[in-house]
Amino acid sequence: MTKQPRRSNVVGESRASRKPRDQRASRGQREPRGQREPRVSSKPRIPLTPQALISLYRPDLAETLAEEDLPSFRYSQICEHLFSRPLRPFSEATALPGSLRDVLDTSGVSVLKQNGEQRAPDGTTKFLLAGSDGVGFEAVFMPYKSRATACISSQIGCPVGCTFCATGAMGLKRNLSAAEIVDQVRTTQVRAAEEGLRLTNLVYMGMGEPLLNLRAVLDSVRIISDPHGLGMAHRSISISTVGIPAGIRALARSEPQVNLALSLHAADDNIRATLIPGTFRHPIAEVLDAAWQHFDLTGRKLLVEYVLLGDINDSPNDGRRLAALLRGHVVAVNLIPWNPVPGLGRQERPFRPSKTPTPQSSFRAPSLFRAPSPMAVAAFRQALLDAHIETVVRQSKGGGIGAACGQLAGGQR
Ligand code: SAH
Ligand code: SF4
Repeated sequence: MTKQPRRSNVVGESRASRKPRDQRASRGQREPRGQREPRVSSKPRIPLTPQALISLYRPDLAETLAEEDLPSFRYSQICEHLFSRPLRPFSEATALPGSLRDVLDTSGVSVLKQNGEQRAPDGTTKFLLAGSDGVGFEAVFMPYKSRATACISSQIGCPVGCTFCATGAMGLKRNLSAAEIVDQVRTTQVRAAEEGLRLTNLVYMGMGEPLLNLRAVLDSVRIISDPHGLGMAHRSISISTVGIPAGIRALARSEPQVNLALSLHAADDNIRATLIPGTFRHPIAEVLDAAWQHFDLTGRKLLVEYVLLGDINDSPNDGRRLAALLRGHVVAVNLIPWNPVPGLGRQERPFRPSKTPTPQSSFRAPSLFRAPSPMAVAAFRQALLDAHIETVVRQSKGGGIGAACGQLAGGQR
């Protein structure tokens, strides 16, 4: 009988997932120069003390507090105020002595400024945010009937440069800190509470590539999931990556209960290279190998994301090739019909380079993309269903306000 993957509900298993773990770990795992395996502890996580949590969340605040020589219960009270009553000023923390409230108030209750928001008719809201340097980025709040999801950013811009993505077209401005990531969650928690909802799910699917800002992302997950912090369940958190094998392995070791979403977009390395052009793209075989290792270590079902681009990767044959790669593994596929991005759509006026190009305006991706037809989406999905692969079509929320998958550009369009 075929050996089953751990916690599998899928019959059969591919050759890759049958290999013993140590054998797989040694095959094809050499990272390109500069992308060595990140050193992340594999020790089980112990809950953070309130003092340690504040140091991890806001080193600036921890420094201010260190000067105050506080008893440890004050740290618990500060955490309670920060994480249970998000974004309320410290002046309202009446359990704290007035002098301490004054000190805390000068540090501020959030590291982010809210520069505005845009709200779609279905309640999806895009927050325009900035850190202390004023550089803008975005987070999205998505309400549903009895739950709510936050889509948060890990970087301002993105160094990967996927040709179909608005964030990729910006390049990387900078990494976000753990506090800047956590404060996006606190911002959306406030909105959820205002709408009588609780923030139940968190997806790192906003701006940036989370596994290229690994330290801050892992720290943010600890703060968000710790009982003294925001206390969200690990299992309600998903991290989406373009496929950085070393980062996937580090995530599995460090936060094994967090869900992994892998942006594959093609079953063929040549097609994938046109969509993910830069040095951060790894061969599909290596990326999937890391994803199967992630499953071996964590038992979490892999989510495969596949942006469907008309006439590029959306034929039934593309679907069958994708099915062949995934068959026998514990996966679900999310098909994401391409959301239009100004300047990247095929129907638009062709881009004409300016006569005197500046470094910023001299390069633009050609007008390439269009959304797939509904028939193509249905046929692609059927090809996967025929191979018994769980597949859903993601209806991106917030298209009308530029808040859907891949449309975030820090208010720069
Ligand atoms: N950098 C990570 C996470 C952010 S992007 C990643 O690439 O996975 C989140 C998802 O949005 C990815 O699956 C990405 O491929 C998808 N996406 C990007 N641009 C898009 C667009 N214009 N339309 C639909 N999905 C898009
Ligand atoms: Fe970066 Fe993800 Fe956009 Fe690619 S799709 S450019 S990895 S944010």
